[in-house]
Amino acid sequence: MQNVAILGATGSIGKSTLGVLELYPDKFRLYAVTAHSRVKELAEIAKRFNVSLAVTSDPSKLEALKEALAAIGCNARAEAGAEAVARLAASPEVDIVVGAIVGAAGIVSTFRAAEAGKKLLLANKESVVCGGKLLMDTVKRCGATLMPVDSEHNAIFQCLVGETERSREKARIILTASGGPFRTRKDLSDVTIEEATHHPNWSMGRKITVDSATLMNKGLEVIEARWLFDFPPERIAVVVHTQSIIHAMVEYEDGVVIAQMGAPDMKNTIAYSLAYPDRFTAGVTPLKFSQIKTLTFEDPDLNRFPQLGYAYEALKMGGSASIVLNAANEIGVEAFLEGRIGFTDIAVLCRSMMYGFQPPAPTTLEEILETDRQARELARAWADGYSEHRRDKN
Ligand code: NAD
Ligand code: MG
Repeated sequence: MQNVAILGATGSIGKSTLGVLELYPDKFRLYAVTAHSRVKELAEIAKRFNVSLAVTSDPSKLEALKEALAAIGCNARAEAGAEAVARLAASPEVDIVVGAIVGAAGIVSTFRAAEAGKKLLLANKESVVCGGKLLMDTVKRCGATLMPVDSEHNAIFQCLVGETERSREKARIILTASGGPFRTRKDLSDVTIEEATHHPNWSMGRKITVDSATLMNKGLEVIEARWLFDFPPERIAVVVHTQSIIHAMVEYEDGVVIAQMGAPDMKNTIAYSLAYPDRFTAGVTPLKFSQIKTLTFEDPDLNRFPQLGYAYEALKMGGSASIVLNAANEIGVEAFLEGRIGFTDIAVLCRSMMYGFQPPAPTTLEEILETDRQARELARAWADGYSEHRRDKN
C-alpha cells in the first residue's frame, strides 16, 4: 500500500488522478489533498477518500476549510498556506506526490518532493520550465523518481524505454500539437474569452486551455522536454496533429519512428505513471481505429502563434529567459481572462518581457523564485499600462 498526496486535487488533473486511484483502493491510499480556494469541494474529496490531511494553499481559507470539513462530518486535519503544501510534499507519510498545481505556484512543492526523494508524478510543467537543470539535478542527487504527467512527455518516456544512451543521443523528439481552436482562423485579434477557453479535444483547466490556443502550451512543452529528457532544442520538433491520438513520437537514427497513441484522456498518463514499469487499466475507452480513419500532420504557423517560437528563443538565450517567459505568459493569460488585454497581447507581453528583462541564470531555488517574482511584477505593470491605454482608446 502506497500513500499518495495530490497537490491541486480540485483541478482537472487532480480529478483525473482521483478517478484512477478509485480503481485501486488496495494499492494506493490517498493520504492528503490540497486546493487553493475551492475548500468545499476539497472537503468533499477529503471525505470521499477518507484522507488524513486537507490543505488549502490560501491562508485566509483555513476557517472556511475547517467549517466545510465539520459540516460533512469529515475528521481530516486541516492546514493552510503555501508552506503547509510544501511541507506535505516532503512529508515522511507520503510515498507518491502528484504535482497538479497550476502555474509557478507549484515550483516550491515540486522541489520539496524532489529533495525528499519522492516518487513525483509531475503535471505542473511550469516547475520544469522554471526549475530546468537545477530541478533535474535535484531529482538525481536526491534519488527521486520523476514521472511526467503531461501526455506528450509521458508518451516520449514510453517511446524511449529500453533505448541505449547512444541511441538516445542520435534520436529526435517530435511533440504533437492539436493546433488549438484557432488553427485555421486568420485574425486572432478579436478572440473572445469564451472562444479561448474551449479546447477541441481535451478538457483541462482554464490557464492551460488558453495556453493551448496560443500554442504557448506547446512552447512550454518544448522547454519541458529539453530538461526532462536532456535533449537539445535542435532535436525537439513540433508537428500539428489535430486528432490528438498520437501524443508524441521519437525518431531514431535508422529512420524508425516510435509513436505513442491513446484516447485524449489524462487518466492514461496517470495510470501509466502509477503502474510503471508495469501497466494496469486506466478506466479509459480504448481507441477504435475504424472510427478515427485518418491521422493528419502539418507544420505549426509561427507567424500567427509566435509564442511557440519564443520558447525556442528562450532556450537559446539561456539565463533566466524561460522563467521570464513563463511569468509573462501567466500574467498575460490572467489579464486576458480578466478582459484587460486582448488575446494577441499575451504574445506582445511575452516578447517585450523576454527582451526587456534578462536576469542571470539562477543557481538556487530562491533565485528562481526571486526572478519569477520580479518578472511578474514587471509584467503586471505592463499589463496594467496596456489595459489603461486600451480603455482610453475605446
Ligand atoms: P486546474 O486549473 O484545473 O487546477 C489547478 C489546481 O491548482 C486546483 O486544484 C487549484 O486549487 C490549484 N491551485 C491554483 N492556484 C494555486 C496556488 N496559487 N497555489 C496552490 N494551488 C493552486 O489546472 P489543470 O488543468 O489541472 O492543470 C494543472 C497542471 O497540470 C498545470 O501545470 C497544467 O499545465 C498541467 N497539465 C494539465 C493537463 C490537463 O489535461 N488538465 C495536461 C497536461 C499538463
Ligand atoms: Mg501536454
